[in-house]
Amino acid sequence: MYIDKFKNKEEFKEEFKRRIIEKYGRSIEQAHVTEKYMVLGTMVRDYASVNWKASKEEIARVEGKQMYYFSMEFLIGRLLTSNLMNLGIYDIVKEGLADLGLDINKLEDMESDAGLGNGGLGRLAACFLDSLASLNYAGHGNCIRYEYGLFKQKIIDGKQVEVPDQWLRLGNVWEVRKPKHSVDVKFWGHIEMSMDEHGKARINHADAHIIRAVPYDMEVIGYDTKLTNTLRLWSAEPAEDASNSQGFSEYIREVNEINQNVYPDDSTEAGRYLRLKQQYFFVSAGLTAMIKAHLRVYPTLDNLADKNCVQLNDTHPVLAIPEMMRLLMDDYLYEWDDAWRITTETMAYTNHTVLAEALEKWPIQFIQTMLPRIYMIIEEINKRYIYALNHVYYRPDLINDTAIIKDGQVHMANLAIIGSHSINGVAKLHTQILVKDVFKNYYAIMPEKFNNKTNGITHRRWLVYSNPQLTELLKDTIGDSFIKHPQDLVKLMDHIDDAKLQQRFLDVKMERKQILADYIKKNVGIEVDVNSIFDVQAKRLHAYKRQLLNVMHIIYLYQRMKADSSFRIYPRTFIFAAKAAPAYHFAKKVIELINSIAAVVNNDPEINRYMKVVFIPNYSVSIAEILMNAADVSEQISTAGKEASGTGNMKFMMNGAITLGTLDGANVEIVERVGYENAEIFGLRAEEVEEIKRANSYHVWDYYNTHETLKRIVDSFIDGTWSQNKDEFKLIYDELMFKNDEYLLLADFDEYEKAQANIRKRYEDRSGWARMCLLNIAQSGYFSSDRTIEEYVRDIWHIEKINVK
Ligand SMILES: *Cc1c(COP(=O)(O)O)cnc(C)c1O
Repeated sequence: MYIDKFKNKEEFKEEFKRRIIEKYGRSIEQAHVTEKYMVLGTMVRDYASVNWKASKEEIARVEGKQMYYFSMEFLIGRLLTSNLMNLGIYDIVKEGLADLGLDINKLEDMESDAGLGNGGLGRLAACFLDSLASLNYAGHGNCIRYEYGLFKQKIIDGKQVEVPDQWLRLGNVWEVRKPKHSVDVKFWGHIEMSMDEHGKARINHADAHIIRAVPYDMEVIGYDTKLTNTLRLWSAEPAEDASNSQGFSEYIREVNEINQNVYPDDSTEAGRYLRLKQQYFFVSAGLTAMIKAHLRVYPTLDNLADKNCVQLNDTHPVLAIPEMMRLLMDDYLYEWDDAWRITTETMAYTNHTVLAEALEKWPIQFIQTMLPRIYMIIEEINKRYIYALNHVYYRPDLINDTAIIKDGQVHMANLAIIGSHSINGVAKLHTQILVKDVFKNYYAIMPEKFNNKTNGITHRRWLVYSNPQLTELLKDTIGDSFIKHPQDLVKLMDHIDDAKLQQRFLDVKMERKQILADYIKKNVGIEVDVNSIFDVQAKRLHAYKRQLLNVMHIIYLYQRMKADSSFRIYPRTFIFAAKAAPAYHFAKKVIELINSIAAVVNNDPEINRYMKVVFIPNYSVSIAEILMNAADVSEQISTAGKEASGTGNMKFMMNGAITLGTLDGANVEIVERVGYENAEIFGLRAEEVEEIKRANSYHVWDYYNTHETLKRIVDSFIDGTWSQNKDEFKLIYDELMFKNDEYLLLADFDEYEKAQANIRKRYEDRSGWARMCLLNIAQSGYFSSDRTIEEYVRDIWHIEKINVK
């Protein structure tokens, strides 16, 4: 028998040695480091699985309500460190391994990032799982077991190259395959209706392609608690009795492609069908399993909404609404009205974007052909909604704007709003924009559904585990209560004027900067000065996030220093990290431009003492863990009104970086807490941007023609400054100058430049700077996802804490 719960390092060592031999038939000395990692991971999983079982039993015993977070993405990163720390066995294991001559950090580095997501939205889902378990709430994740995470980014000749991310190469030690809980999901075919002996309509889905969904469950281990939740990843496999009208190999291909990628190429119709297929696949499997689990405890589904709720992370899982209707009506014979009440009481929807191009729509024909029964139900929901507009709300004028089906498409956000009892934005400003603008016509008739839940980050991963140096300093200063109660970070306010603490903070920051500098030297080959200001912009590359504005400022500094030998700046290292979507040509060009500028600036002996430019490849959770905490300046410079919340901004703040940003997303709430004097805020406000767009009053050429500096910067994109080929960056020039600078970079440039000059001045006052950083840390507790989760619980989920003994 295995010892699942080793109690001290001696027991750990014995068990570790034994398992290496049993699993690999090798001694510790002979075993490969990956084998050691695998065995360690398995031991941690087994250690927690005792709690996992107890959690499931306790939830059933108290008949507790459970929350299921449906998300196409969970950007969880690595789990070994976080799991060991949360279980409170990190030191036992570290010392045990050291006795055996092994460095725990080496084993930690063997783990691949689980990159099952694109960016912020997926990382939010991962932070929520950590907070749910740590706060003792039964809240589970539901997603797809992608065989490849988001692509790995390499930079070759300055350009992004995508290579497959084979995160499962070594297998996934955290998952457990559960074939017993498999369910079937049906696609294509057609619907036959008949009448049963009671005169009830019965539905038969004929000629369907049946695909089996097999769950792989991962433990979600919370901090200092036995409550252990589940992240369920569904894998598509051939069904046993699949009828093969399409032919065997075509069927296998159809099955396998579901598991392939986080985000299929949506530039082709086949890719878009696949994306829709993935959505329905994990939603249908997740709901079917939820219902089955409910029926193992309760005799009826009448109380389904009292014991379960589903949070829809953006519109990707919104087919859950018609799918739940289908299950209740077709499989469990509920009437429409009862099914509708149960469905809407179960479902809640989180909106993540106001960008029009990102609001999902599907051509009617896609859903009608691939999901014929689901389409029938969506049509009926739409019909009844329009009836209600006419006869309940007396607002037929809203039909055009708010119907689910119109202009040949199914509007997923509309379906989400109509089929949920709660709709939330992810920061105060974002929610305001939803109710005043994007969804104002829904807000007019169903205001009670709308609410705000400002995003958060797990301070355990993003502060305690990834920045042990700062954590020690904080513990030393205010005690360790902030680990359980992040809002206790505010105790630091009593110490921000303490000169000794300020110096110690600067020392900690220097240590983190050195770690990052070493990483950059080793992986990017650039030597950076840790005494320079580390100015970091790390996030997906997108026009609205305005990496290009940052670039324009760098060009400005370079050109001015070249032209005027009396103008020199406090040394600065500009650090970027960002992936661009593979088909997003503009974004890829910006990456190439950054690397081209880096090549010029970093090799210019006159300039490179004052500034360097670094692009760190393959931005991911693991990179973020060494990047955020080494930053002095946090670049959050999106066009106001476009960034829903941002969470990167919170990670930087919590690690003592100063926000240089626009009043956008959660930046607004950061400034609300730290005050304008402890951040550097610039640029147009969201209402001003709105007004400019409404009045059509912005003309980029006016700026270009009257502003010598801007003209020089913009011209450098096409005059060969950054590439021998003058056309290399013409795309960027055209995007700015011939599309009227959609994101208003030129309009915000002057203020941005002033804000950057302020940063330089303020950084030189080391004590004042340290005080400002400490104040930011002190005020960052609000941005722990623990606070966010408590708000979801209070306002939407109404779940109770589970006490696992
Ligand atoms: C936090 C995080 C994000 C989100 O960054 P934003 O600045 O909020 O867009 C994206 N990717 C990774 C890997 C992250 O850790």
